[in-house]
Amino acid sequence: MHILSKSTYIKGEQCPKALYMYKKHPYLRDKLSLEKRAKFKRGTDVGVLARTYFPGGINMTPTTPSLFGKMFEKTMLNLKDPNVNVMYEAIFIYNDTLIMLDILVRDGDKWRAIEVKSSMALNETYYHDASLQYYVLKGCNVPISDIQLMYVNGDYIREGEIDLKQLFIFKSVKDFAEEQLESIDKKVNEFKDIVELSNAPRINIGAQCFKPYTCEFRGHCWKKIPTDSFLHITSYDDKELFSLYNSGIQDNRSFKRLLNPLSLEMNQLDALEQDTFYINYKTFYELVGKRTESIAFLNLLFYRPAVPILEGHKPYQEVVIAFSILSNQDDEIIEWNCLDDYSKMEEGLNILTEELKRFEKVIYFSAQNINSLMNRYHIVESKDVSFKIINFRDVLKESDFFNKKTKYDFSLKTIYEELFPSEKIFEHSRIILNATSDNELERILTSKDMEDENRFLQKMYKRLIK
Ligand code: SF4
Repeated sequence: MHILSKSTYIKGEQCPKALYMYKKHPYLRDKLSLEKRAKFKRGTDVGVLARTYFPGGINMTPTTPSLFGKMFEKTMLNLKDPNVNVMYEAIFIYNDTLIMLDILVRDGDKWRAIEVKSSMALNETYYHDASLQYYVLKGCNVPISDIQLMYVNGDYIREGEIDLKQLFIFKSVKDFAEEQLESIDKKVNEFKDIVELSNAPRINIGAQCFKPYTCEFRGHCWKKIPTDSFLHITSYDDKELFSLYNSGIQDNRSFKRLLNPLSLEMNQLDALEQDTFYINYKTFYELVGKRTESIAFLNLLFYRPAVPILEGHKPYQEVVIAFSILSNQDDEIIEWNCLDDYSKMEEGLNILTEELKRFEKVIYFSAQNINSLMNRYHIVESKDVSFKIINFRDVLKESDFFNKKTKYDFSLKTIYEELFPSEKIFEHSRIILNATSDNELERILTSKDMEDENRFLQKMYKRLIK
């Protein structure tokens, strides 16, 4: 049996306590939000497609976790079998650390190891992940000709069937991984010791609770932090905030002594203590611009498939699959979708372009800026669409909108429920889950939810514009 895996090793790197808790008290994890579970189900999985680049391989994925050991033995036997040239999810265990390798390809008398990434750019984390794989492979005495990251070519344009040779790029990380071997060995041994402890290591809460990922034990470790604690402010660098906290400044009164009474952090603290929100109305009015009743509230649903599904598209190019417009003036709703057939997107874009022409302002709320999409598809024919199209989320961010939750979740739901405390609304992810469901009845629910979300946005706008 193994003690560590790639995911537990990553946890250990973020925080040793998180690793310990995951291994010993996994039931204390926070509940997964709908947002984290929501993924577009349609479109091709990059991992599955990458395998077809090296066809005819044997899939080593065990049917249950108890078979990891057995599949490791089989993997080792396959290495010696001249009839086996490719393995998917080959399993290796060394120094109590288990890895599953996306693709392993025979390369003369050696093997070429490949880790598949669905992104268009490589980052440091990918290099480190691959280095751990290399460490285990070396430990198992697998003769490795190269270890590579296989990722998506952002310049690829789909013409007809997917051209795998054009879609994927390979980058060798062998030299980098070779340099990491010593430090990985040290860390693996450290992490194994942590897992063996009889009590959780004493680790103070800190910036690591959010970086690089929001830790799933926040609910547990943060349970004693009051909801009005200065730790929830956003106008201070997290590192500084936690270093003050861990040096003994733990209550708001002591923290306030360090602040300028007219500072943003003081306004945020007041909002926390009075359980309300803060906004800089001057900036807000400036950004919202000229008052008009001719407003379209726009809810646009699109997704960015890693593997282009439409002709002429690049990887991650937006595919608009639904929209809902709420006219502020006459309460009219215009809705359209192509949830059953994405190739009808063009039709929808034409309708959208025509409809938006009659409004002076278009307001939407999204974590993504859709201005470039508007330009790309000529929905608004102007180099500068920002005069007309307003991302309400950006406006609120720039106006320093703040409450006790916005540091962790700057969503329409969080802001709406702050402005209308007696109401609870659904997460935006529900729309994504329904829109991409295989169940037709669930897909039908999408229009109503998109309309409702637009009404929430309109209500928020009216409440703040006063
Ligand atoms: S919440 Fe913070 S301190 Fe607690 S385990 Fe996670 S990262 Fe570590």
